[in-house]
Amino acid sequence: MKFIKIQLKPGKEDSLKRFHPWIFSGAIARFEAQPEEGDVVEVIDSNNKFIALGHYQIGSIAVRVLTFENEPIDFDFWKKRLEVAFGMRESLGLITENNNTYRLVHGEGDYLPGLIVDVYHDTAVMQAHTPGMHYVRDILAKALVEVSGAKIKNVYYKSETTLPYKADLGAENGYLIGEYNNSDIALENGLKFHVDWLRGQKTGFFVDQRENRSIVEKFSNGRSVLNMFCYTGGFSFYAMRGGAKLVHSVDSSAKAIDLTKKNVELNFPGDERHQAFAEDAFKYLDRMGDQYDLIILDPPAFAKHKNVLRNALQGYRKLNAKAFEKIKPGGVLFTFSCSQVVSKENFRLAVFSAAAQSGRRVRIIHQMTQPLDHPINIYHPEGEYLKGLVLYVE
Ligand code: SAH
Repeated sequence: MKFIKIQLKPGKEDSLKRFHPWIFSGAIARFEAQPEEGDVVEVIDSNNKFIALGHYQIGSIAVRVLTFENEPIDFDFWKKRLEVAFGMRESLGLITENNNTYRLVHGEGDYLPGLIVDVYHDTAVMQAHTPGMHYVRDILAKALVEVSGAKIKNVYYKSETTLPYKADLGAENGYLIGEYNNSDIALENGLKFHVDWLRGQKTGFFVDQRENRSIVEKFSNGRSVLNMFCYTGGFSFYAMRGGAKLVHSVDSSAKAIDLTKKNVELNFPGDERHQAFAEDAFKYLDRMGDQYDLIILDPPAFAKHKNVLRNALQGYRKLNAKAFEKIKPGGVLFTFSCSQVVSKENFRLAVFSAAAQSGRRVRIIHQMTQPLDHPINIYHPEGEYLKGLVLYVE
């Protein structure tokens, strides 16, 4: 296959030799011809030597590398990549009778920059973040069904809000393969939940908290639990299975609270230990008493860009300060940040400030991150985003 060549400035190939998958626009010396957004381009160094093939896009990241080998980018290429992704998850024991919820493709972490695929039972929800992935969506959908051995029967494309709006691709959400077949109940570690990929946030569920939910389950026995920012109740039904005395779920979205109630009912019909409230987090934390001895804080990303980092850190400090103020002695606090631009160190500093403000004794008993189906390519540290602390508060 022949692709338009993009030549780098001298020395700019160094990060690529270490397999970093991004080429910034400032590193480019020359275009052989003007590529279209979403085209596959060939990247060469200043001595005309082949370096990589990748998707071209207008913006500060000009090329996202697909491969460091000069190979055809055809159906077999995409299928091989998806096979590797599927094989990794299968070989690590993630896909079982009890667990049919998992992220099958995590962008750069699966050598497929710009692509996210989450699987719920027999439906895969696909999100393209780049024009390049948008153009190959049908090929990807077909390959997904093949590599899953037909475990995946439906592929829903949900990219209206994830593609760069300037590219104006006119993407529409909808099924690329199959259709809605009433199989929107998925299983995570044996617990059931409804997924609303049509209207829900992201692909419909926060798949990245699976392992951290299990830790909540382990520490819940006999405790009074507050699940703040509950979305569809993931942490709540784990806490209930773990033997919590009571579980209160809070989210500002009324739709999320409805789904939380439905999901708790699916797993624990008629169980009166659970109550859910549609309310703003700060309001609830202000008005609540001191009855909780396990609190989960899993807020939305407070910072989406570096320039709002300071405000975000203040936000994390204030939020955590409220929890430190109210949690019972001997309480366990689970606190998270999913902002990619907030580093582990900065997040810990914000939580430290909140703890110091409360004057309580606080110990870190566990540190959390994203699970194995959200792998971080070691050459692409930007792929790390989820961090959390489990704290014992006296
Ligand atoms: N813990 C969830 C994911 C949380 S996502 C899970 O395990 O699935 C963040 C949630 O915070 C969203 O559901 C959003 O509706 C909610 N949210 C955003 N701002 C909020 C606020 N000010 N008060 C309460 N909830 C809020």
